[in-house]
Amino acid sequence: MNHKNASPLPTENGLIDLFSRPISYLRLSLTDRCNLRCMYCVTEEEASGCLAKLSHGDLLTYEELLHVVRVAVAMGIGKVRLTGGEPLVRRHVMRFIGELTRIPGLDDIRITTNGVLLEQFGPQLQAAGVTKVNISLDSLRAERVAAITGVDCFDRVWRGVETVLALGFSPVKLNMVAMRHINDDEIVDFARLSQRLPVQVRFIEFMPIGQSSRWTADTFIGTDEIMARISALGDLFPLEKGRHDGPAKVYRLGEDAVGTLGFISPISHHFCSRCNRLRLTSAGTLRSCLLHDAEVDLRAVLRRDPSDEAIRQALLAAIRNKPQGHQLEERLRQSGGDCHGRMSRIGG
Ligand code: SAM
Repeated sequence: MNHKNASPLPTENGLIDLFSRPISYLRLSLTDRCNLRCMYCVTEEEASGCLAKLSHGDLLTYEELLHVVRVAVAMGIGKVRLTGGEPLVRRHVMRFIGELTRIPGLDDIRITTNGVLLEQFGPQLQAAGVTKVNISLDSLRAERVAAITGVDCFDRVWRGVETVLALGFSPVKLNMVAMRHINDDEIVDFARLSQRLPVQVRFIEFMPIGQSSRWTADTFIGTDEIMARISALGDLFPLEKGRHDGPAKVYRLGEDAVGTLGFISPISHHFCSRCNRLRLTSAGTLRSCLLHDAEVDLRAVLRRDPSDEAIRQALLAAIRNKPQGHQLEERLRQSGGDCHGRMSRIGG
């Protein structure tokens, strides 16, 4: 191993892991529950009704979550994303978000949502100061959205998109997981959307994750091919990234587009060497790599010893576990297997 540091350390520049990567971004999965049944998140049996859910006591309470975030921010975390399951279905979520925004030193709070409840919650999110939103939308066709998500929800999601745009949220990112034979014929329609709306349309490579994923090598479509298809519409101009822009490569399609395009390539051009993330799953475990199953049971720690120091040590243990790279290609070659975490618990 090519360690520069003997152990991960909070330094004056924040948390640095064993491979010298700054860790500054925490993703919180607030619940594994969701109001949709997306084909890549649930198995066919679950889609027809019986989704295994965590019990209320398995989730970290809002007080526990706030405690963890306070300690993490004191150690150098500067950005938090709320995800799930669907974060907006957890009861009293706005009260929690209000408390979160009052944590000193936490200047960047974002949310990833399926958008179904965004028309309702958009104004409250804005009032709380959360105006950076990612909305997952894999198709612009109502019937196809229903087929992918198991719910006839396109109109509600689109009203959510219009609501946050009208309120002036920025950035508004639309996440499209590109899947061959499922929605890849809409890649150019999504790209065109960025020419008329002030959104960032992001094309995400389909990942082989979770027992319930419908991933096959055949459904996978890589960023190079996605970009080639979009290039047929016009020139792609690369854009500079901001500090918290994450792993997307960002472009503008043509000179006059109001929005942008982002390409996220966890499989074809993985960005592990720049990964700054730590995840807290809805089961209360800390996971340092989306595509690697090693986790630290923070819930057990918290319920044994809810002290700042115990949380701090658990965060450091999780960061110590962070692999240098996800090595997914090798695992797929060896076993055809995927990683076992469920996206609905991990939160993407
Ligand atoms: N319910 C919220 C939502 O829909 O955005 C948050 C949770 S969802 C699990 C987070 C993101 O993970 C979504 O954008 C979803 O499309 C993406 N996702 C889930 N499974 C995926 C997979 N196998 N490959 C790539 N992205 C995936």
